[in-house]
Amino acid sequence: MSSRLENYINGSFVAASGSGDFDVTSPVTGERVAVSPVSDAADVDAAFRAAREAFGSWRSVTPSERQRCLLALADNMEQHSEELVEAQHRNTGQPRRIIAEEEVAAGADQLRFFAGAARLLEGRGAAEYLEGHTSYVRREPLGVVAQITPWNFPLMMAVWKIGPALAAGNTIVLKPSETTPESTLVLARLAGEVFPAGVFNVVLGDGSTGQLLSENDTAAMVAITGSVRAGQAVATSAAKSVKRAHLELGGKAPAVVFADADLEKAAEMILTFGTFNAGQDCTAVTRVLVQDSVHDELVALLAAQAAKLTTGELDDAKNDYGPLNNARHFETVCNKLKNIPEHATVITGGVPAEDAAGFFVEPTIITGLHQDDELVQEETFAPVLTVQPFSSEAQAVELANGVDYALASSVWTTNQGHAMRMSRDLDFGCVWVNTHLLLVAEMPHGGFKSSGYGKDLSIYSVEEYTRVKHVMHALD
Ligand code: NAD
Repeated sequence: MSSRLENYINGSFVAASGSGDFDVTSPVTGERVAVSPVSDAADVDAAFRAAREAFGSWRSVTPSERQRCLLALADNMEQHSEELVEAQHRNTGQPRRIIAEEEVAAGADQLRFFAGAARLLEGRGAAEYLEGHTSYVRREPLGVVAQITPWNFPLMMAVWKIGPALAAGNTIVLKPSETTPESTLVLARLAGEVFPAGVFNVVLGDGSTGQLLSENDTAAMVAITGSVRAGQAVATSAAKSVKRAHLELGGKAPAVVFADADLEKAAEMILTFGTFNAGQDCTAVTRVLVQDSVHDELVALLAAQAAKLTTGELDDAKNDYGPLNNARHFETVCNKLKNIPEHATVITGGVPAEDAAGFFVEPTIITGLHQDDELVQEETFAPVLTVQPFSSEAQAVELANGVDYALASSVWTTNQGHAMRMSRDLDFGCVWVNTHLLLVAEMPHGGFKSSGYGKDLSIYSVEEYTRVKHVMHALD
């Protein structure tokens, strides 16, 4: 009998009153690993009530104390790494070592960055701008914030949301993805050991619960990482109640490879960064744009790299990457791979065998696609890379920028001119040069265009969870 998961509200686990239970299943075996409630309005209201009450005192806690709590949570995460890894692995099938390194250890490091950032918030000036009057800026928390996370990196996404919000002095109601709630619940328990009750609350449920969060009048802001569809729904609800929205809605990252690049190194890294986490990464390389003179050579090198990768093993330690996260997503990806246009060529990979266990997809490389083909335009969120040739720098820019998404991109070249001009002209929130996918806590992560707005990580994200207030004193 799988356990029925509970919400974490006001420092305790409580059963949800929402009745629509659903199964949380392993994407490796298809077995049920837990039962999750779909929290209803009463559950969501209870969480916001707790967060609002906690804000009353949390808002005046000193930055130093907020830092202490965030540092303690980082330590707690590391001490409970195995529990976090197991909880998440049950829901995602990701290799355990990836969760341990990329989400628990990296997440603890990011929390330590946010702990420091809690003490760096400032207003811009304090002076007599009007004779006889002193003005200054107070930088304040927003209040209670609603946060909605996806299933691709459940723990990392939760850390990116709660770190800046707590550092800035807000309290939180967070809803994890319905398919991957378990590591977030462990995180909530660990946070409950160091933060006052009600500062960080978690409600479980699907998009309908997410909708309740974004409509809630107590929330001063709603932040989501997920699909464009969900982001649009959240922004619409936020607009109705005039609250801030913070949207991270995925990407369709190009890797632009010039003929002067170190092609072997580029192929190795591009394949690695295109299949990392089974391509379920909004910054993953999905579109390789290569100068036409080296197209065939790069395709051969990419195929050779693909042949070296392992996936599909039941023993996760043997896999370079795990399965796609859920049945619906797997079906969508398989349908896209079954309907590849006739003008395209599958170099390696393709549709998984009907009798394969789990939602695993082999590294897939497709050439010959046109710029307006769905596989080039829409997020696939799978280990699928398309390769298109370009003949000039101008055409490379046109193809790279010719999609609705604008989150991340990379340039591969040994020519400084290419690198500098492409960094300027690529219309993406991040441009890497001779690398891809790497993130650091100190630098902002976030996109333009349909990829949304609002930055995660860095001091910019902390500032987004604050408001500025002008105070003016008459001196006489
Ligand atoms: P989704 O956008 O539906 O889910 C993300 C989160 O949003 C979940 O917690 C979900 O419950 C919530 N949500 C869904 N509808 C909502 C609504 N109307 N209001 C409020 N919250 C809502 O993602 P999905 O359907 O599981 O995946 C679909 C596609 O989204 C994927 O194939 C991928 O292309 C993309 N995606 C992107 C990211 C990313 O990191 N940007 C993450 C996951 C999925």
